[in-house]
Amino acid sequence: MRGPMFDDQRFIEQALYISLGKEESIVQNRLVAAGNINQGIYIETADSGFFLKVNFEQNLDIFEKEAAGLELMKENTPLKIPEVYHVGRIADRNFLLMEWIFSGSAKRSYWEELGLGLAQMHMATRPSFGLDTHNYIASLVQDNANQISWSDFFVEKRLEPLIGKAYYEGLLDLDFYKTFQSIYPRMQEIFPKEKPALLHGDLWSGNIMCNEMGSAVFIDPAVYFGHREMDLAFAQLFGGFDDRFYRAYQEVFPLEPGFDLRVPVYNLYPLLVHLLLFGKSYLSGIRKTVNSLL
Ligand code: ADP
Repeated sequence: MRGPMFDDQRFIEQALYISLGKEESIVQNRLVAAGNINQGIYIETADSGFFLKVNFEQNLDIFEKEAAGLELMKENTPLKIPEVYHVGRIADRNFLLMEWIFSGSAKRSYWEELGLGLAQMHMATRPSFGLDTHNYIASLVQDNANQISWSDFFVEKRLEPLIGKAYYEGLLDLDFYKTFQSIYPRMQEIFPKEKPALLHGDLWSGNIMCNEMGSAVFIDPAVYFGHREMDLAFAQLFGGFDDRFYRAYQEVFPLEPGFDLRVPVYNLYPLLVHLLLFGKSYLSGIRKTVNSLL
């Protein structure tokens, strides 16, 4: 396992002790992921492996919501989801301790299994769009207050909060803010009517791992009940999904015609997320879609 050692041994020991209720003898630890928000640490103990996520966020419930999202997915898909052991906080650090996923190479039916597993998860439904609580996509809050209409939910709970935040943070001018808002009425006619579906919510290839058995594992979700095309559009944004995935999905849960034309509209949301997290380079993609809707 490459990577530097995580320098705070005491924190790791305490997090393990709090989570497992017993002393574990740690063989080694490695910092394996250092993102904008979280640090990810591999911990090898005498008889197990753990993944410890740590952050210093003021929003104390980010990991609690991530754990709840993993749990909800686990209940609704045959796909592998890492086991969560504990969510906690020591001093000014939040942590999430979960099962370490040992990586392997994809088995022959990897993509088909992934397509079927996602379709199955999307069949889990509720009467309205949203969730019983807010959660997060990366560090950004997602308001999941329930709504009956997908287009209303998409505009009011997904687009408007983020474009407003982007304007407030000086990432765009007032002119574009208003132009963006002028596309909202178009949303009424774009989406096919669908039941709310349980979404992963942050479905890019970096949030799918391949385990030792060669099967796909979902990590790092931002779940809610939404239009299922959101996940499939998001998957296309940065690529990395084989055609077999889409074919397998379509076979069990066919999409309404015209999905390809709707993809950029759904992806306004992840692009806004990227604009806020990573800066103005994501603005041109947003402008392009907005212009096509004027
Ligand atoms: P972040 O929320 O900071 O993006 P992720 O949950 O996406 O963190 O994890 C970051 C990286 O750490 C992943 O891309 C993956 O390589 C690795 N990782 C995440 N969860 C596990 C796990 N349970 N076991 C092993 N590696 C993991």
